Amino acid sequence: MTPTLTPRRPRWRSLALLALLLAPLLWPLQQLAERYYRDELIEQNRQTLDLYVANLLGTLRRFEVLPPILGNLPDLRGALLQPGDAAALDKANLLLKRVREQTGADVIYLLDAAGDTRAASNHDQPDSFIGRNFTFRPYYQAASEGRLGRFFGLGTTSGKRGYYFAAGVREGDTRLGVLVVKVDLDFTERLWGQTPEQLLVTDSNGVVILTSNPDWRYRASRPLSAPELTRIAADQPYPTQQPQPLQLDTHAWLMQSRELAETGWTVSILAPRSQVERPVQNVLAIGAASLLALLALLGLLLQRRRHYIERIALDARAKRELEIRVLERTRDLEALNDRLKDEVLEREQAQQELLRTQDELVQAGKLSALGTMSASISHELNQPLAAIRSYADNAGVLLDHQRTDDARDNLKQISELTGRMASIIAHLRAFARRDRHAPESVALQPALDDALALLAKRRRALDVELIRDLPEATLWVQAGETRLRQVLGNLLANACDALSEKAPPRRLWLSAESTPTGVNLILRDNGPGFSAQALEHAREPFFTTKTSTQGLGLGLAICETLMRALGGELLLANHPDGGAQITLQLRHATPGANLAATEEFS
Ligand code: ADP
Repeated sequence: MTPTLTPRRPRWRSLALLALLLAPLLWPLQQLAERYYRDELIEQNRQTLDLYVANLLGTLRRFEVLPPILGNLPDLRGALLQPGDAAALDKANLLLKRVREQTGADVIYLLDAAGDTRAASNHDQPDSFIGRNFTFRPYYQAASEGRLGRFFGLGTTSGKRGYYFAAGVREGDTRLGVLVVKVDLDFTERLWGQTPEQLLVTDSNGVVILTSNPDWRYRASRPLSAPELTRIAADQPYPTQQPQPLQLDTHAWLMQSRELAETGWTVSILAPRSQVERPVQNVLAIGAASLLALLALLGLLLQRRRHYIERIALDARAKRELEIRVLERTRDLEALNDRLKDEVLEREQAQQELLRTQDELVQAGKLSALGTMSASISHELNQPLAAIRSYADNAGVLLDHQRTDDARDNLKQISELTGRMASIIAHLRAFARRDRHAPESVALQPALDDALALLAKRRRALDVELIRDLPEATLWVQAGETRLRQVLGNLLANACDALSEKAPPRRLWLSAESTPTGVNLILRDNGPGFSAQALEHAREPFFTTKTSTQGLGLGLAICETLMRALGGELLLANHPDGGAQITLQLRHATPGANLAATEEFS
């Protein structure tokens, strides 16, 4: 396995590790969220607290001024001045009742100098205060001394909580009594309603006097000292003389407090911390989810990156393998190329060798033909030579006889005869010459005439009838002048040889036909035709059916070679009516310079 193909699990394990490492990042988030929601809750509770305190103070202040004002009323003072006057007392009672109804106070009552209740707003109620003594209450003391008495406590008769305001009633310097207004505070507790936040009002002793949680009521928020306990026993502000301690889990609550200087109270609002914790937990959950999503995204990205790297590695490997294969193939090809070069060189050498051999063969054929022809050549040359000699001898005799004109005629004859001899020799030279030129445009009819001219004497001797079927227009073929004449000469000589073997009539047909690519020249004789063996082997060198003096068996072999060299073909066949039929397939050529018709000689 390659190092790139690492198993998948470790990757996710490292991501989990990363998640653990990143988890502490949630801590500042928690701090921030906590601070935010706590501040928000504190602000909200502060407003609630302000509202509550304002309400409480407003209620108290409304009644604070009432005792001094009422204490100055003559009807109330009269009730104290004439304690035995029932009418005065009735008057005072009615007044207090009316004032209570108008102000909303809980109870208003009038004490005499001994602390006994003389008149009260609840004089007609079963729990009437009339006759009751309140000297034990601290407000009585304070009012007697000329101060405004203030006191929180439970009504001894009603058991209802209330705040008491008391002021002294005086006639000049004489202390007549005290006027007390009790304000109901239960309703301020009821105002609170059913909210998660709790209300806590403690008095100067630290004892809970008003609260939205009944379990906390009259419990001490701090340890009470002995003098405090003594005073509580004396003043009886609570239903118990031994307030139990308040067990508050300070971690569970968020507390805000406000001091009320005039009553010595502390108003607190307690909000459960869960109110902050819940939204903070939500924020944390969202943060953690975001972190996880981020990690999942990161994991995916890493995985994609790894796949990409793997693919690149695979591509690179494939490319390397391809390069190696290409290199190997190139090496093979180079080796093959070298072998081919060697083979081409060998072939070229063989070709050259073949060409040279062919050349030699042609040359040998020519020389052989020359050998066989030498008898007729010497005859051809001897005949004009003999004529020249006799013309010369005659010319001498004629000059002796002063017959200069006749002598001139003889000399002219001599001149013509030498011209003919030169022509014969030129043909022979052309025949014997090595010709390696590229094919050129050659006119077919004049070449044929040339070849016929060379054999004219033999043809006449054999009395061969020549039947020509050639077009008037010159046929231009691709050939070499000499080579074509040599081929034609050979074929015509063979025909004469074949015709010599039979009795007359002897005929020779010459015809030509155009094909899409060239010209077919057909030579037919009415001789014995090719034997079956000759048809098969006549083109091979040294195949002959003739005696060694007559033939070498090179003629058709040379013709075949020359035709191939010209891009043509030599076809051997027998005519259905008897005799040989030879077809020369030659290629068309563009018209070139016309040849002068060769002179026929006998
Ligand atoms: P050569 O003429 O020296 O025998 P060639 O190659 O020219 O050599 O001819 C090979 C043979 O083909 C001849 O010996 C002859 O048997 C046969 N041949 C050639 N031309 C003719 C022809 N026109 N008619 C019959 N046979 C022929």
